[in-house]
Amino acid sequence: MGPILLSFVLLSAKPTILIAGGDVIDGTGSRRHMVDVRVQGDTIVAVGHLRRQPGERVINAKGLVVAPGFIDAHSHVDGWLLSDPVAESQIRQGITTSVIGQDGGSHYPIREMFAQYAARHVALNIASYVGHGTIRSKVMGRKNKRLATPDEVRRMANLVGKEVEDGALGISTGLEYEPGRFSNTAELVALGRAAGRHGGIYISHMRNEDNEVLQAIDELFTIAREGHLGAQISHIKIGSARVWGKAPEILSKMKSAEKNGIYITADVYPYTYWQSTIRVLIPTQDYGDKKLWEQGLKDVGGPDHVLLGNYGPDPTWKGKTIGEISRATGKDPVSVCQEIVSATSGSKKAEGESVVVTAMSDADLDKFIASPRIMFCTDGQKGGAHPRYAGSFPRILGVYVRQRHVLTLEEAIRKMTSFPAHRLGFLHRGAIKPGFKADIVVFDPKSVLDKATTKDPEAPPVGIDDVLVNGVLVLDNGVATRKTPGQVIKRTVRLR
Ligand SMILES: [Zn+2]
Repeated sequence: MGPILLSFVLLSAKPTILIAGGDVIDGTGSRRHMVDVRVQGDTIVAVGHLRRQPGERVINAKGLVVAPGFIDAHSHVDGWLLSDPVAESQIRQGITTSVIGQDGGSHYPIREMFAQYAARHVALNIASYVGHGTIRSKVMGRKNKRLATPDEVRRMANLVGKEVEDGALGISTGLEYEPGRFSNTAELVALGRAAGRHGGIYISHMRNEDNEVLQAIDELFTIAREGHLGAQISHIKIGSARVWGKAPEILSKMKSAEKNGIYITADVYPYTYWQSTIRVLIPTQDYGDKKLWEQGLKDVGGPDHVLLGNYGPDPTWKGKTIGEISRATGKDPVSVCQEIVSATSGSKKAEGESVVVTAMSDADLDKFIASPRIMFCTDGQKGGAHPRYAGSFPRILGVYVRQRHVLTLEEAIRKMTSFPAHRLGFLHRGAIKPGFKADIVVFDPKSVLDKATTKDPEAPPVGIDDVLVNGVLVLDNGVATRKTPGQVIKRTVRLR
């Protein structure tokens, strides 16, 4: 080869990165083995015992694990990603793909949203559902706090079908929220059928996550069966002491549904507490009823299980439990709850409140975390009080794998990568294989750990120092590079 031709080849070849000497856990569930990984452009081009090429960037991964980038199956980054495209709290957890449009809320139309992300450039890969509440408001306008008419259901179904056709993964619902909670099962079956016909699935923040969680799961199974589509339970939890211990029952139902051809999966975040408004303790919204408050507090384990994460009217109450506030003020716990509701009602609502409630049992959560049918999510809010936003994925690796042996590292990685990639039809992602997109995370299995707490909910984790999205280092030796190589992932295959 003459010198002119040689320099042409060198100039035209895309630069490569060699991730050398790490323990590769390829995402399929196979055991780790020590091999090198070469990345060129946005693709993994070789896996094996590789020799460094001249001029090649080398990441020394000796003693570290090299895994596919993590997929956050239930993310709310659509709330801020366009204004904060670097997404450092996600990147630092090893998340390379976020699944948005959750809980019934999405951008409409999805085609426009995909164009926005492609034009803006963001650090994460993005895939999205179409939101049921969004479509409901589109068709029913502001008068959506009622049952839909048959004609409205037909129009909603048409829009859902179109959005799934345009690349949505399926339809998401948020049945504890407005306007989703005004729908009935028949409406959801009809919309599920429309999503399924076009290759999508049904994902749901169900009608209830505490005392009536089993009935809510039954409704989801009904929608999957009668709508002829697969379904996923969002952030699965058993949030009431009255139904603790039911995880095995739920998991065996999911298993037997699969034998009957209905594929039900779930996602979970690794904390025994949830974050919402204090109002969800009273589903009937009879906030004046003291008996209901007593029962509501008892079901979550008592007033010391309810921590006020944010509270506009009196910042000195922020970070304290209802029990602590009660003891400090001499007011009974129910009166404290009622005072919080009235001080944040109507025009004062803007000042707001949010609570972090420890209402799940470790035994149930462990079963969900270990289940082969359950993937992981953050469900976090930027600026929220819940550490799941910045800690979920490293917490699985540090606490549930290394410290408590609830599942193996290989299985945890599979549930963060190839499992959601298969479930959601992400082709050529979720595994370390030649030809796959180079979404890669390099971490230290001996030190990886979440650091976020309710007091410091955005504290970054430790032990994850290198993250690539589509072959570009977004985290380089612990430093966020502020690069934005994320791609839009549209649904292109029929999901089951
Ligand atoms: Zn939700």
